[in-house]
Amino acid sequence: MSVFNWYNASIKQKIGGLFVFLLTFLFCVIVFSAYKVNQIEREMRVVAFLDIPLSQLMQQVEFIELEQHLQFEQFQLKNKIDDKPLNPHQQFAFEKQKIKQLLDKAVAMINHSLALKEVILQPEAHQKVATTIENYTQKSDEFENYLENVYQQNQLTEQARLQVETMATELESAEKQIIAQLNKLTSDDAYYTDQHEKDFLFVSSLLGICAIILGLLLTTFIIQIILRRIQRIQSNIETLNSSVEHHELPLELQKKIKTKDELAALEHDIKIVISRLNQEMTSREEVEKQLIILATQDRLTGVFNRHKWEEQIENQINMAARSEYLFALIILDIDHFKQVNDQYGHQIGDKLLKHLATQLQPQIRTMDMLFRIGGEEFAIISPTQDKQQAHQLAERLRMYISELDEVSLPKVTASFGVTCYQADDSSSVIFNRADKALYEAKAQGRNCIVVA
Ligand code: GH3
Ligand code: MG
Ligand code: MG
Repeated sequence: MSVFNWYNASIKQKIGGLFVFLLTFLFCVIVFSAYKVNQIEREMRVVAFLDIPLSQLMQQVEFIELEQHLQFEQFQLKNKIDDKPLNPHQQFAFEKQKIKQLLDKAVAMINHSLALKEVILQPEAHQKVATTIENYTQKSDEFENYLENVYQQNQLTEQARLQVETMATELESAEKQIIAQLNKLTSDDAYYTDQHEKDFLFVSSLLGICAIILGLLLTTFIIQIILRRIQRIQSNIETLNSSVEHHELPLELQKKIKTKDELAALEHDIKIVISRLNQEMTSREEVEKQLIILATQDRLTGVFNRHKWEEQIENQINMAARSEYLFALIILDIDHFKQVNDQYGHQIGDKLLKHLATQLQPQIRTMDMLFRIGGEEFAIISPTQDKQQAHQLAERLRMYISELDEVSLPKVTASFGVTCYQADDSSSVIFNRADKALYEAKAQGRNCIVVA
């Protein structure tokens, strides 16, 4: 498993990761709160369904015992003044049973809750109360059996009276003790529950505040990440902007935008720089075109120059060497051009050269190429032409030159050397052959064509 790389992660991953972190924290807070609420509810149940009912049961026991006491008082009184004492046996049996039921119920309630592990507050103390009640039940049984015996005899000796009084006092104090124990248990449990509730409220509020702070921090952090990126992009744009030429911008980009939205401002800046780069590219293409023209065109006449000639003749030789492709080479040289210069001046000579070149260009096909290879010497590369076709072309050009009639310029003629590509020709071989033919044409009296 690869380690999560924060710096290389996508924005989606970064923001998503931070939110997963925040939501996990909130989820933990919710789980903790639910657990605590449940615990407090269970504690409250101990108080509401065990402690308080137990106290009530014991109060009932106390009340019944008070009744028993009253009965005994009456029994004593009747015994002193009446010969026929009152026998409360039936009533007593009922009360005895009732006390037993109440005490058993109290012990059963505690044991049941303990067995179900419902007593989450002070289980030992509850266990102790159950044992105390059991002991009390035993004592109460003993007392009642004794009293029953007294009632059954239907007379009260002084010794029996004293014994009853002692046992009743002991029972009463045990009873008071249990009730006190239960009251303490109830108030302790209520206190703990209350304390837990307060703790829970405090921790919950603290966690809530933490979640809010965490949320705010994460939001600030995300905003910071985005803003810092935007600033970095903007400073890069600045640098780029200062390095490109500032042409006129399109109208919609000339207005300064008024917005507080950093992304909108960034988008605007990017549009400006893209527009500038586009303009820069266009102007560079223009410059490149100009450079290509300068590198390949003859300054005076505007036809291809010697540099282009050297490149193209090599190209043609290579193409012809590799395939069935053929081409013809025509070299033409103006006759007695030195005399033109001598007679009319160099400037007129230049004008004549320029005029001839511009007039010749439209006379050849678009695929033919016209080069100025020397002072008054031109070459024509004519693709897919055989000797006969090349001769016809040269003838047409010769006639055209000789018939050219420009008022401000002297009339001239030209001589032509013509040849076609032959197997294993190199650029110098084919050129020399054409040049030799031109030399022959000059020798034959000029204004004519020699095909090699
Ligand atoms: P031929 O019929 O034997 O070719 O005679 P030519 O006088 O034309 O030949 P030559 O080689 O003796 O002279 C060429 C002349 O062309 C010499 C030079 O003054 C002239 N020339 C060469 N380049 C230029 C140029 O750029 N402008 C002008 N005006 N003249 C040039
Ligand atoms: Mg010449
Ligand atoms: Mg020449």
